[in-house]
Amino acid sequence: MSGSPVAPVAIVGGGLAGIAAAVALGEAGHAVTLYEARPRLGGATHSFERHGMAVDNGQHVFLRCCTAYMGLLDRMGVSDKVRLQKRFDVRVLTPEGRGGRLRRTALPGPLHMLPALATYSLLGPADRLRAVRGALALARLDPADPALDRITLQRWLASHGQPEPVREALWDLLAKAALNVGAEQAALGPAVKVFRTALLGRSDAADIGVPDAPLGELHGTAAHDAIKRRGGEVRLSAKVTGIAEGPAVVVDGALVPAAAVIVAVPHGQAARIVPAGAAPGRDAWHELGASPIVNVHAVYDRTVTELPSAAAVGSPVQWVFDKTGVAGLNEGQYLTVSVSAAQRWIDLPTSEIRAEFVPALERLFPAARQARLTDFFVTRERHATFFQGPGSGARRPHARTRWPGLYLAGAWTDTGWPDTMEGAVRSGLHAAGLVRRQLVTTPGRRS
Ligand SMILES: Cc1cc2nc3c(=O)[nH]c(=O)nc-3n(C[C@H](O)[C@H](O)[C@H](O)COP(=O)(O)OP(=O)(O)OC[C@H]3O[C@@H](n4cnc5c(N)ncnc54)[C@H](O)[C@@H]3O)c2cc1C
Repeated sequence: MSGSPVAPVAIVGGGLAGIAAAVALGEAGHAVTLYEARPRLGGATHSFERHGMAVDNGQHVFLRCCTAYMGLLDRMGVSDKVRLQKRFDVRVLTPEGRGGRLRRTALPGPLHMLPALATYSLLGPADRLRAVRGALALARLDPADPALDRITLQRWLASHGQPEPVREALWDLLAKAALNVGAEQAALGPAVKVFRTALLGRSDAADIGVPDAPLGELHGTAAHDAIKRRGGEVRLSAKVTGIAEGPAVVVDGALVPAAAVIVAVPHGQAARIVPAGAAPGRDAWHELGASPIVNVHAVYDRTVTELPSAAAVGSPVQWVFDKTGVAGLNEGQYLTVSVSAAQRWIDLPTSEIRAEFVPALERLFPAARQARLTDFFVTRERHATFFQGPGSGARRPHARTRWPGLYLAGAWTDTGWPDTMEGAVRSGLHAAGLVRRQLVTTPGRRS
């Protein structure tokens, strides 16, 4: 066997988790082959073309505390293709035209957010005080405490003096965006993780970042180049149908031995290819379920708002983003409305969604009443994230499996983060670290 080449590390799934693992292992000098079932990389983050516009499947947002994600962008050479706020600043609109604003100060964390809560004009003075007290109480919780995985955010808020207006105009607004599930269904643990890290941690942690290029370019094309530059192989339209001990992957009916295997596919697919013997919790993975996100896209013949983004309460519009520049639109304005926890909308025909959202946008942006809608369409992601409700934390598996050389990654695994781009990248880096340790201690198998 001596002199035969070392089998590459097989990475299954070309979303951000698989991409992060492939880039990290390539950088460390390991041969990798990335298998992706679709004809492109990027997984849950991708773009398509429509009437000459580059359209993202769904608006993606990150925060300055997403250091692993930003590190990946840096390694892929695309850090200049995102825009980060200099200071966390969210305009919150209502259909009645009452505006609110949540803007951090220059004070050190967690004090930086308290003035924002204390002056949040969508709440009355007494509710602002309650919101500040709630934030301080939340900051004292430990997101890793298993007890927090058993109750909902809503229950905790109700028992900590947070009345309905505070829940709606503050906690639910933020929880839905971060966890893709409303406060009444969200597990407290991941909510605390987000609030503590982003809003109540370092003062700049919650500054919001958005892609300044289509996702397909930011993640897909850039990843392809970055992996290849580091000597890795990318196999697109290559679905892995099984994993065997050794380890090895089954692709196109053939068994391909690997130095190690990282399975970085969503939980439903992972349960189909990872043998039960390798991951005893496998049969419970489907209980992680799914939560949909719908994006409503409206193109106007003129500018209807100067805001780059805004949140809304009392409206079906949750968050809205100006995508005109990113999409390459030269005339008019293209707005994307991001609707999380979208069970109510996911199965509705576009005509019904249009009937609700066009007037809703006109109420938030009165200039839209004079504008002509030149295009309207909807993108639906039924399995956007897993359902981050009570009990979900306990079902998220660790990266290690019982089989030597077989590891799990993906935003759904036990990352300590919600199902986000940051969680995905962290999981990929973690799995890559375990593979590196394995390959150092046990020399790579020979093919
Ligand atoms: C509309 C939408 C909006 C979102 N908004 C945000 C946001 O604002 N901020 C944020 O941080 N996160 C957001 N998310 C979540 C974020 O996109 C995900 O958490 C993250 O991209 C998941 O990455 P992943 O690599 O774990 O999985 P995925 O991206 O799902 O990648 C898994 C890959 O595995 C491939 N695959 C599956 N089975 C096989 C197989 N058998 N063989 C080979 N390949 C296979 C799939 O084709 C896929 O490419 C959003 C998601 C959606 C859908």
